[in-house]
Amino acid sequence: MGLTVLMNAGPWLSVPPPGYGGIENVVATLVPELRRLGVRVVLASVGSSTLAADERLSVFADGQFPSLQRPYNQVCGIAQAHLGGVVRAVRGRDDIDLVHDHVEAVGLATLAAMGADGPPVLHTLHWDLGKHPDLYGQLDGGNRVRVNGVSAAQLTRAPAALRAHSVGHVHLATPLAVDADRRPAVEKGEHVVVLGRINPGKGQDVAARLAQRAGFPLVLAGPVGPYHRPEELAAADGQARQNPDVRYWDERVAPHVDGVRVRWVGTVAGRDRDDLVASARATLFPLRWEEPGGTAVVESLALGTPVVATARGCLPELVTHGRTGLLTDDEDELADLLVASSLIDPDECRREAARRFTPAIMAERYIELYDRVRSLAGPVLRAA
Ligand code: UDP
Repeated sequence: MGLTVLMNAGPWLSVPPPGYGGIENVVATLVPELRRLGVRVVLASVGSSTLAADERLSVFADGQFPSLQRPYNQVCGIAQAHLGGVVRAVRGRDDIDLVHDHVEAVGLATLAAMGADGPPVLHTLHWDLGKHPDLYGQLDGGNRVRVNGVSAAQLTRAPAALRAHSVGHVHLATPLAVDADRRPAVEKGEHVVVLGRINPGKGQDVAARLAQRAGFPLVLAGPVGPYHRPEELAAADGQARQNPDVRYWDERVAPHVDGVRVRWVGTVAGRDRDDLVASARATLFPLRWEEPGGTAVVESLALGTPVVATARGCLPELVTHGRTGLLTDDEDELADLLVASSLIDPDECRREAARRFTPAIMAERYIELYDRVRSLAGPVLRAA
């Protein structure tokens, strides 16, 4: 009998996500490959999810993400209500071999609190582990609850108690990596792309200033807070402009965006996103934070576009300096590296993606971790 995994994607967005949705995208990439490898997947998500699974469960009909704009005391029950549904489901049956959880903080705390009669749990950490020091610093999941990171660098930032629960890391993957080395080369344009949420950690202000100074065309793609289109952002009122990412845009990025040399195209999706990235001469990641996982990095490689970045977080694990991109510790060097990136072979980027970042590779690695977590947990004590 094969493994049955309850995959907890959480209550925030449907899977696959309707637009921007990092965690939900990872789940949508992972589940089909797990099922292809013989794993039964029970998907815990919202009712509107369309991802194929062997079974689904949900507490909410639709994604609850828009509620996160409301005050904490009005929304703090949402993740708990979803987790309540997961716990009830797991307690009511004896065929769940493992819960693979992706719900920040609440998933880990609730599943750890289930006690010895709960199933083994693997909780994937998708975020910066400097967050939640009170939760992570005192975590006690016994032998039953384990965590994994999405890069080795990310785990070095974890408090000791969290690291003690770690079974390692699994790099992110992209469906674009499948046969990436067999796709025909795309003709390169002059433009450089920054792909990601407009956010101080992602450093779009650095990119925009650099483009104006060094004189190269720059395209910024990604949402500003909840706004995906320039018209929507332009219509936002004073209250909405207090969103931290909107303030970052207004104060530090927008002054350098002239619509000619530096353009913001909003969130791009599907073919448009792939064409924009594949035809760029480089993608730029002028990071000011320790990027934990970097889906956009592996997507760029899969599309045959070299990565130029500050060497922070997972970047040195995903990009080989001189072969698939160029990395530096010094922000001021990025413009020179963009010039030098014309020497990086796009085919080599695609080959690397096909070798390392396919969904199948990610799924095989998770199956290894599921086995490891189950053997560390020992036999499950079922409640009588
Ligand atoms: N993305 C997109 N359109 C955009 C900007 C970003 O589809 O205009 C996608 C990008 O391709 C990637 C994800 O959003 O799949 C961002 O994930 P990443 O891990 O790079 O960053 P995060 O936002 O999770 O920190």
